Amino acid sequence: MLSRLTYPPVSIEDYARLLSPIMLRDLMSAAKEVQHLRFVHLNSTAVGGGVAEILQSLVPMMNSLGVETERIVITPAPEFFQVTKRIHNLLQGAEGALSAEEWNTYYGAIQGVVEAIQTHSLQADVWFLHDPQLLPLAQMLPKSPSETRLWVCHIDLTAPNRHVMGPLLPLTEHYDGLIFSLPSYVPAGIGGNTPVYIAPPAIDPLTVKNTPMGEAEALAIVSSMGIDPNRPLITQVSRFDFWKDPWGVITAFRIAREEIPGLQLALLGLNQATDDPEGQGVLNSVSEWANRDPDIHLYFDPANLTASIDSIVNAFQAASAVLIQKSTREGFGLTVTEGMWKGRAVIGGNVGGICTQIDNGETGYLVDSPEECGERIVSLLKDPTLRARMGAAARERVRRDFLLPRLTLDYLQAARKHTTAQPALNDQGINKIEKPATVS
Ligand code: UDP
Repeated sequence: MLSRLTYPPVSIEDYARLLSPIMLRDLMSAAKEVQHLRFVHLNSTAVGGGVAEILQSLVPMMNSLGVETERIVITPAPEFFQVTKRIHNLLQGAEGALSAEEWNTYYGAIQGVVEAIQTHSLQADVWFLHDPQLLPLAQMLPKSPSETRLWVCHIDLTAPNRHVMGPLLPLTEHYDGLIFSLPSYVPAGIGGNTPVYIAPPAIDPLTVKNTPMGEAEALAIVSSMGIDPNRPLITQVSRFDFWKDPWGVITAFRIAREEIPGLQLALLGLNQATDDPEGQGVLNSVSEWANRDPDIHLYFDPANLTASIDSIVNAFQAASAVLIQKSTREGFGLTVTEGMWKGRAVIGGNVGGICTQIDNGETGYLVDSPEECGERIVSLLKDPTLRARMGAAARERVRRDFLLPRLTLDYLQAARKHTTAQPALNDQGINKIEKPATVS
């Protein structure tokens, strides 16, 4: 029911050249104040998706700062993930409601997690419980007075379905603090008096995925996967998921190809998350929509790859003239951050966390339809100077706001507020915000 993930050590010194001296100083000071405490991050998938991506870097970074931190993944039965994917979709605004049986599956699995935690005597001074999958745990697991429990919600809660939001809202009152990616995601009436913090996600600039890759290496990798290196390529890197709108990306590609003959499209979804049971159905539908077009490449099978998934993602991002993230809901969109960090012009859906990252016309484009997306692809492909200018601005935006040390500082500061009597630092870097007063 619980699986402990371990990581090789990293050194904070390696990140120093990318950080301002103030950021480095604040990070060290915040860490120092909580070094006597033990932290645990609990989430529902070891691989696949943005949360797994963040935690695999955040946990070693916290340890490198002298803060003892563990990552534990829950491993419940597949029925749990069927239900939690439904909850995810409903919270992002899908229509419908959960049946009594589905609610029972949800709470029953979390009861199993509670028992496993007790059986293994898993203890922490500070718990970060990630996403709706873990939400009921704070209510169900007996708490010692010295413990701090923070719920981290990574999804887009702009327009949640009230049939699921209503029953889940009271569960937030059992936390000491709630962390959201954007202020606009904080639901009215959430958490009683529980403080709310805003901590937008971030990428690790030192991973294989995010270390700049040379053109020759990138082209060699994409060529080995069937891309013609002599023709233009556009890519969307994403799980095969309804909200990522892969159908819209194909439509936009077809529109753009009218003006850019020879254009190729890659849809890269090699890392289907274990907590997402819907991927196969979406993939089947997208394959049908692609209609065996030889210039639409769908990548979904992680078996028999000649390079690691991280290198492949990096290669496709580096080898593409334009990157797409045409989501219709997006909690944050790390793929956007990754593309921007590589100095690429990214065209993103005009939703959620994508709008926070892309300043329309400056660091990329925001689009509301496949047609608009198609037009932007054409204008970018025809104008290398525009692409270069946007790409440079995009990289600088990520360097300033969306790198891992800033997120680590946000989490440490949120924890520190609950674990130290007299905060010694100023509160820059983590925003505690006023909550809307009533339930929408
Ligand atoms: N990703 C990957 N391989 C793939 C597709 C996606 O490693 O084939 C990664 C991607 O690089 C990013 C994460 O999965 O780091 C997706 O995070 P994002 O926030 O964009 O979306 P989520 O999947 O969490 O909705």
